[in-house]
Amino acid sequence: MSTTSVSVKSKVEIAKSVKVAIAKGDGIGPEIMDATLRILDAAGAKITPEFIDIGEKVYESGNTSGISEEAWNAIRRNKIILKAPITTPQGKGYKSLNVTLRKSLGLFANVRPVSALHPYVHTHFPSMDVVVIRENEEDLYAGIEHQQTQDVVQCLKLITRPGCERIIRYAFEYARAYNRNKVTCMVKDNIMKLTDGLFHQVFVEIGAEYEDITQDVQIIDIGSARLAAKPENYDVIVTSNLYGDIISDIAAEIAGSVGMAGSSNIGTEVAMFEAIHGSAPDISGKQIANPSGLLNAAVMMLTHIGQHKIADTIKNAWLATLEQGIHTADIYNKEHSKRKVNTSQFADEVIARLGSQPEHLTISKLSEGNGKITIPEYQRKDSDKILLGVDVFLDWPENNPQKLGEALEKIDSYKMKLKMITNRGVKVYPNGLDETFCTDHWRCRFVSEDMDVNHKTLTYKEVDFEQVINLLSKLHADGFDVIKTENLYEFDKKRGFSLGQGE
Ligand code: NAD
Repeated sequence: MSTTSVSVKSKVEIAKSVKVAIAKGDGIGPEIMDATLRILDAAGAKITPEFIDIGEKVYESGNTSGISEEAWNAIRRNKIILKAPITTPQGKGYKSLNVTLRKSLGLFANVRPVSALHPYVHTHFPSMDVVVIRENEEDLYAGIEHQQTQDVVQCLKLITRPGCERIIRYAFEYARAYNRNKVTCMVKDNIMKLTDGLFHQVFVEIGAEYEDITQDVQIIDIGSARLAAKPENYDVIVTSNLYGDIISDIAAEIAGSVGMAGSSNIGTEVAMFEAIHGSAPDISGKQIANPSGLLNAAVMMLTHIGQHKIADTIKNAWLATLEQGIHTADIYNKEHSKRKVNTSQFADEVIARLGSQPEHLTISKLSEGNGKITIPEYQRKDSDKILLGVDVFLDWPENNPQKLGEALEKIDSYKMKLKMITNRGVKVYPNGLDETFCTDHWRCRFVSEDMDVNHKTLTYKEVDFEQVINLLSKLHADGFDVIKTENLYEFDKKRGFSLGQGE
């Protein structure tokens, strides 16, 4: 491992006031932000707010990114953001500001702790205490989508080795720093052998350096089902972007209310803290929103910038308030609630309890850790890359794989030949089944004419990119509608592409 490392922990000193970019957001955002800031102020948090405008108003002013130049500058100057939820306007042309912020600022780790507050907040899982660590920049959220034929659209799932290494090491380091014992990796590599397979492989590689931590790999479908049925069996979960988005909402919901969970978005330079919920337009302006999600995010921010004591004081006061049955409408229940309060009254009650300890609820492991998480810089290793062929994707409206296959077999291309055709990943030529449904999107695999086929074992031979170019111009000249190509490589003698189903 390299000795050069970047610290994801802020380097500010505890005693100094820390400048924080603050976005009040949309919908319930300003209500919950005001409540949160009043609590931080009363607890003596040493922060200097710089308010920034992002979200709905900026979108409506004609800026489709939802963020102005001044706001970018304030974020990059301050490096810490406390952000209330924002509304992404529906319709074409608007980019999700959340995704833009996470990716542009390199906020690679989304940390979402969720713990039960039984019996005060109703949940079926009284001992649940889970942290979902979600990869925040890659996967299907790369946002690379194309319509390729009349009937077929695609979204690229990008998983990178540096992305996997960073998030997986972060999860193990987080477990160590916050005294957690187990890390579970969730993937779907029984189907996505290369992308999810890489995430799994890196988990095993990096996990070998953390023998003190119990490790487990689960397939995401059964993993989510088990999380929903027995969340107490999970401690830290690390997973890719889309799976993490889904399972962290499941975790928050089954713990009691989506209005309770906070999250941090951690990068090497910048960190952003926010509630996991949205701008809740259905209750906006009514002063009934629960500010706890944003307050918990602010507590995570204080821990991150080294103000642990103030973080603990606020968390304890918050727990004491909930324990004494002072509840907002979303968590109000006849059995344990004593008084229904609005957003601002809830803040007053927390402020009144600053310095008190909860009687039964205990502060989670969140602020116990020393928070020092160090991620080494990525060390790229060169590998031996060899071109073995090309998948040519064609737009072909006729539902006749045999006819397409026979036409492609006749293409006279320099030393490349058709090996197979698939439609939606299933082999349809040669020897396809009549029952297979075909669309207008055909993947045609061309390899070297000299490929060895020995019953079950296939040996691909190296081809030259000139041969690929030659093939493409032949296809074009013969009237085929080429919509894209994917080169087939091997890296260090390992096949870097999947076989077609039935190949
Ligand atoms: P939402 O999370 O805003 O609301 C879902 C439900 O939960 C609603 O019934 C709402 O009233 C309730 N709820 C949410 N937060 C609450 C709180 N603090 N207290 C009490 N009840 C609460 O999800 P949505 O309705 O799907 O999205 C609304 C808007 O928020 C959309 O424009 C969406 O794009 C945006 N959004 C923003 C973020 C973010 O800024 N990080 C995250 C998610 C959604």
